[in-house]
Amino acid sequence: MATSDLMPVDEAFNQLLAQARVLSDVQKRPVSDSLGCILAESPVSGVNVPPTDNSAVDGFAIRYQDYQQQGTLPVSQRIPAGVGPEPLKPGTAARIFTGAAIPAGADTVIMQENTELDGDTLSITKAPESGQNIRPRGQDIEQGESLLETGTRLLPQHMGLLASVGIEQARVYRPLTVAILSTGDELVPPGQPLKPGQIYNSNRDMLRGLVTAAGWRIHECGDVADTLEATRDALSDAAQRADIIITTGGVSVGEEDHIRDAIEALGQLNLWRLAIKPGKPLAFGHVGNTPILGLPGNPAAVLVTFLMLARPFMRCCQGEVGPPLPAPEHVALAFSVERPQSRREFQRVRCHEENGNRWLEAAPNQSSGVLSSACWADGLALIPENESLEVGDEVAFYSFTQLMYG
Ligand code: AMP
Ligand code: MG
Repeated sequence: MATSDLMPVDEAFNQLLAQARVLSDVQKRPVSDSLGCILAESPVSGVNVPPTDNSAVDGFAIRYQDYQQQGTLPVSQRIPAGVGPEPLKPGTAARIFTGAAIPAGADTVIMQENTELDGDTLSITKAPESGQNIRPRGQDIEQGESLLETGTRLLPQHMGLLASVGIEQARVYRPLTVAILSTGDELVPPGQPLKPGQIYNSNRDMLRGLVTAAGWRIHECGDVADTLEATRDALSDAAQRADIIITTGGVSVGEEDHIRDAIEALGQLNLWRLAIKPGKPLAFGHVGNTPILGLPGNPAAVLVTFLMLARPFMRCCQGEVGPPLPAPEHVALAFSVERPQSRREFQRVRCHEENGNRWLEAAPNQSSGVLSSACWADGLALIPENESLEVGDEVAFYSFTQLMYG
């Protein structure tokens, strides 16, 4: 098949996202156990944060007018945090601590460092400003305010925010269950001896890591023999048990490649063969209603296609709102690309920095079967299709950290 038959990456990306729909149902989950979950509603605060005006420092609460009129103020009460205060007696000061409620009648707090205490008599040693050191009620969040948007991925600060308004349970989308299925009669699980012609299955553990890093659950389907019947059976079983199916290998044009035929037999093939390097034979379709991403077999191609296409699609299926891919940085190449390619290439690169200058060095072996280069590298550089590039030209750089966790 000529390269002109390959679908451009941008077109495939857009078609994938256009077919993404939220696949998981909504569940209530303790906020304390919801890191990485996607909010299925925008919670509303039932309270003000803080609930009352309170002191920003350890010191003394006074009425500013009393300070203006009197040289010293007797201390009339003590207000630790967590206690409801009495109204401030006119002409007096209240000993107060950080976070404690301001008593009615007080309007200013003096830091203890700017005071002197003689018995119960307070002198103020530095002129205060009216209203200082008070954190007003609702300064952070007002009652009735909606807090976070539906589709937000809960980061630790979001968990803290929900807790700060007293929300114990959040409505979130159940994390997707992803079926992982390896094809290839040559594959052996790590831990067993290799016989002639066999290789270890590296894609399975890598995919487990990629899926787990994204916060999804795994349905392990095991290895599938390279026959159409076994592939069909495995796919139809996986479709019953998971929200999305990911396969590796068996998606190219060889006689031992059965993924495509199995998808067509059980549902429909929506995309196949992209102008991407590595990863050209990627397939996308549906087994019944269950989306399936048929990733290539070569491990570096699995890594690239998962991060650049499968993960963005799956984030949309999880109900996450916002850019499906992280924004890349633009970094200069330390190498040239002399022969323009018709496929968009994602090279494994290392980003160096010295004296404020940054540049990208390519891993020496970009073969799609070489996974060690992805461990040497710290990200992917997007080499645009049909362009030659010189040393110093800037390209989009995606760090693995952003691509896997961002
Ligand atoms: P295929 O598309 O099935 O012909 O696979 C392409 C290449 O990737 C072959 O060299 C396979 O042996 C290799 N491969 C396929 N699946 C895996 C896997 N799970 N782990 C390591 N290599 C694999
Ligand atoms: Mg194979």
